[in-house]
Amino acid sequence: MTMYLHYNLDQHIFESELYLNSFIKSSEYKGVFFSGFHFTEPKSKKDKTAVRLNHLIKYVKDHGQRTGIILDCFQNKQIYSSDDFNAPVAYTGAAYNPKSNYYPVCPNNPVGIQELLSKIDTFTKQYSPDYLYLDHFQFPFNWKEEDLDIQDKNPQFCYCPFCITEFSSVVGEIVNSPKQIDEMMPEWLEWRTDAILNLLFTIKEYVANKTQLIIGLPPLAVIDLPFSTGLLPYSIVDEGLIVSPLLYHNTKQKKLLWIEDVLDQYRIDLNLRKVWPFFEVKNQHELDFLKRFENQYGGLIISNQIPINQIH
Ligand SMILES: [Zn+2]
Repeated sequence: MTMYLHYNLDQHIFESELYLNSFIKSSEYKGVFFSGFHFTEPKSKKDKTAVRLNHLIKYVKDHGQRTGIILDCFQNKQIYSSDDFNAPVAYTGAAYNPKSNYYPVCPNNPVGIQELLSKIDTFTKQYSPDYLYLDHFQFPFNWKEEDLDIQDKNPQFCYCPFCITEFSSVVGEIVNSPKQIDEMMPEWLEWRTDAILNLLFTIKEYVANKTQLIIGLPPLAVIDLPFSTGLLPYSIVDEGLIVSPLLYHNTKQKKLLWIEDVLDQYRIDLNLRKVWPFFEVKNQHELDFLKRFENQYGGLIISNQIPINQIH
């Protein structure tokens, strides 16, 4: 049994909590991953999602199940909206302009890193979850709404002053034009993946052995992930961490078989105990289909969106 349920506190209603409770009691799942809470200082009593999360985590633990917390890392509307925020910069030099609910933060932006470490500190101390799931731990890429353009010669993001300065210091040369970056593209791509990995090392030491880290991966071809996001699944798994491809077939308007196609790429040279696919299901048929993966991977995380009145 390796199935975990994903529960979004943002969509919390009384019925959904009853439903969650019935799942926890039935022990059909091995644990629950929570998302959708607001991050506030621990002393703030006003935040209802924090109270709910506290209550639910205790409930899950009392039933002998595992707990996970899903953190939005470099996607943050609150930081994005602050006055002195430096938005990620595109290859063209234009600052990112949010058109939807995606507010990317550059993983080299010190404000974003500080906020993330402080979040991790708060959540691990307050809830001691078994798993910390790092979502949007990458260079900006709005995968839910955009597809990768394979014609792109350069990653879309990020070319902000933090990135350029960091890169310049690593290569020991002042870089200040896109043309210069073009000429150094192999170094640039390597520097990006190193930047993400180094940040992961920092976080790994930060949580010590208390909490297992899981890194969410956009549903791209494995070979395209480093280019568009800076994420290198092989190196992450080599570090003993878990990777979790986000296979939202409904969001991406794909058929169920697409899931198998993407997952097939992970079968090559990767320890599948360290691969935890994340699914969204909206009916019983889809859930039954996805259960076939149960014994092949270290874990399955299921975002269950079956309408309440259809549950039997
Ligand atoms: Zn940047």
